[in-house]
Amino acid sequence: MSVLSAVATAIAATHQLTLTITDSERSVHTLGERTASLEEWAQDFTTYEVGLKGEGGAFIPARFAPCPAARCNGSGRDCGGGRDHRLASNVIEMTALVYDYDGLSADAMARIIDDVRALGLFCFWYTTHGHTPPACCKLRLVFPFSAPMPLRGKRQWSGIAWRELMNALDLPQCDIACSNPDRVYFGPEKPTEDAERPAGVITGKLLDWRPIVGDALERSAAVAVERVEAARPDESKPVDLDRVRARLRRITKPAIAPVLLRRVLADKVPTPPPHRRAAGDLPRREAWKRVTVALANAADPADSSEALLEILRKSYKDEVREALDDNPATPWETIETLLEGARESVATYRAQKHAEEIERPPVS
Ligand SMILES: [Zn+2]
Repeated sequence: MSVLSAVATAIAATHQLTLTITDSERSVHTLGERTASLEEWAQDFTTYEVGLKGEGGAFIPARFAPCPAARCNGSGRDCGGGRDHRLASNVIEMTALVYDYDGLSADAMARIIDDVRALGLFCFWYTTHGHTPPACCKLRLVFPFSAPMPLRGKRQWSGIAWRELMNALDLPQCDIACSNPDRVYFGPEKPTEDAERPAGVITGKLLDWRPIVGDALERSAAVAVERVEAARPDESKPVDLDRVRARLRRITKPAIAPVLLRRVLADKVPTPPPHRRAAGDLPRREAWKRVTVALANAADPADSSEALLEILRKSYKDEVREALDDNPATPWETIETLLEGARESVATYRAQKHAEEIERPPVS
């Protein structure tokens, strides 16, 4: 009996959804597209394969382009290019939004399904292999898009569109790995024929990502293009040091050691001289290294390093004042070199991030 017989709608019969099908999580080169009506997909998503977890096939709610012919997109696992390769950077379109929930109570799962009904959106839902109610329910939701979402790079999904969609639908937080555009999801499977695995289809409007995401993808791509093209340090331009100081004050990541920054911004030496060091106080070079990494992160790419170093100057003078003959201060040149190195790393990292948003030309 068709699951959709009770809920058959014109849209389910006519709307075509394309998903990428793969036989295993590990075979990254075996990808195939399947395009079918929602009615046919409903059949797939509510029909359980019996066997071990992962034996029943899997899907990715996306379409892939092959790796570029000249080179593979996957650093460190080069396929030679020109073939199917399941990598986030090869995703050209997202075709559905998937939520993955693990370890829900039966009540929590029932509430999520009620929440989905209240959204009025078309949704496939099924429980997965390890579903063991009432303590550990495992639920998957698949919302087909009304139209595919073209992507120019992987960060357009993980960094922008996925977050906007999460906020808009406002369902309980699902597995963060769903933000990977190439995430593989096993289909409906169960360990034994008589294992109970509820599944169903909620009818409604197809999820239209366009009013939710708006022009955020185009805007961020434009910014990324600008940043990739722009901005080596411009020594002739004045630097707004108060802006940089304000950003340094906002840094709270323990790895960057906010306590060092507070001392530097108060014109105090970042780390006490050896005879006054307490547990946790860093050696001088390590302290300056962290301070310069923070400064590199807080600066704009065009800021002149010469100007930025002024932020450290008084703190450095404090170090010189505290230094002893047998325990000299860090040479100023070392601090200059540390800052240059840190700015180089930050620039490379940022260029990489921006490039990930615009790996492909715009869709015309
Ligand atoms: Zn490849």
